[in-house]
Amino acid sequence: MDTRKMGFNTKLVHAGIPEDALGSVTTPVYQTSTFAFRNAEQGANRFAGKEAGFIYSRIGNPTVGALEEAVAQLENGAGCTATSSGMGAVSSVYMALLNQGDHMVSTAGVYGPSRVLMDKHFSRFGVESTYLDTSDLEALKAAIRPNTKVVYVESPSNPSMIVTDIAAAARIAHAAGALLVVDNTFASPFLQRPLDLGADVVLHSITKFINGHADVVGGVIVAKTEAVHKQIRAMVVMMGPCMDPHQASLVARGLKTLSIRMERAQANAMAIAQWLERHPKVEWVSYLGLPSHPQYELVKRQMAGPGAMISFEVKGGVEAGARLMDNVKLAALAVSLGGVETLICHPASMTHASMGREARLAGGVTDGLVRYAVGIEDVEDLIADLDQALAHV
Ligand SMILES: *Cc1c(COP(=O)(O)O)cnc(C)c1O
Repeated sequence: MDTRKMGFNTKLVHAGIPEDALGSVTTPVYQTSTFAFRNAEQGANRFAGKEAGFIYSRIGNPTVGALEEAVAQLENGAGCTATSSGMGAVSSVYMALLNQGDHMVSTAGVYGPSRVLMDKHFSRFGVESTYLDTSDLEALKAAIRPNTKVVYVESPSNPSMIVTDIAAAARIAHAAGALLVVDNTFASPFLQRPLDLGADVVLHSITKFINGHADVVGGVIVAKTEAVHKQIRAMVVMMGPCMDPHQASLVARGLKTLSIRMERAQANAMAIAQWLERHPKVEWVSYLGLPSHPQYELVKRQMAGPGAMISFEVKGGVEAGARLMDNVKLAALAVSLGGVETLICHPASMTHASMGREARLAGGVTDGLVRYAVGIEDVEDLIADLDQALAHV
């Protein structure tokens, strides 16, 4: 069935599922490392690309391929490559698109390891980078150099909730002959489709909203054109951070409920953000759905909704935040996000500790910032949990 012209929710449920001789409604798990050829000629033809078909599961696997096709359709891309983790996606994109002597401009508040990988490791191979607030379009334009090949934007950024105008960033990148890459993990394709806004590559840690059940680590990379897709796929096949069929099967199952999970978590997040904003012990709240967010209008233009992530700071800074985190009972004290269960964490000492204090502050990740990833529980219970924890602060 061709689902490409169908609606987003129909794609979530049906896209990519292969026709199966036994009538299986879901994609079977092809738990195999390799695929037997009928004869030597068929093997040679498959390697030569003259005949479609599977060869070896690092190169391609039907279960993984079904998920890749679904995500490609959800992001309106030419093709998708699944990876063993979100960082497998980030590193493969850097590796595929940047050569020695090239320069990348990136959002200062990116996911910590995405920056450390560039600063500490790709720098060893002569790749240059500049990190800045990419929501400042004049600063972004000024940071472009003759050797800039990639503009890398994380929007909304994690956990500073800074939003970059993706269409404008695409124009700036393209005027310089560079590609725009967007880490869309925080929004998911339900809320934001960067390729439609002009981006060339979109990637996700599917560990988060796409899988949504906190039981898989994985990533995906979707390219707008076949040429860029092939370049990235070749890199993943060579470097080896491919997705496993069992992993893909779990993600394909989680993916089907993306819309209803996001709708519920987002409604919870809106109620909690409003409640926190009124709480006397809360210093500030950053949520994309509050008019107090500096980019409230851009969010409404660029995204289908404000999502399920809240950052806030308790009066009394780091110590007060720690007391809050030690006293919540329903929310788990854990990094990650996008699952059905609510999680709370402290980015400055956890996810963003590796990037150093100066870079962290420049990225909007203050010492006392608490990140609250809202799940799909009853909102009354989540608020009661925060209320009793704040009483200990
Ligand atoms: C978690 C995350 C990553 C890394 O993904 P893993 O699956 O943990 O490797 C990259 N970008 C963002 C925005 C993330 O939240």
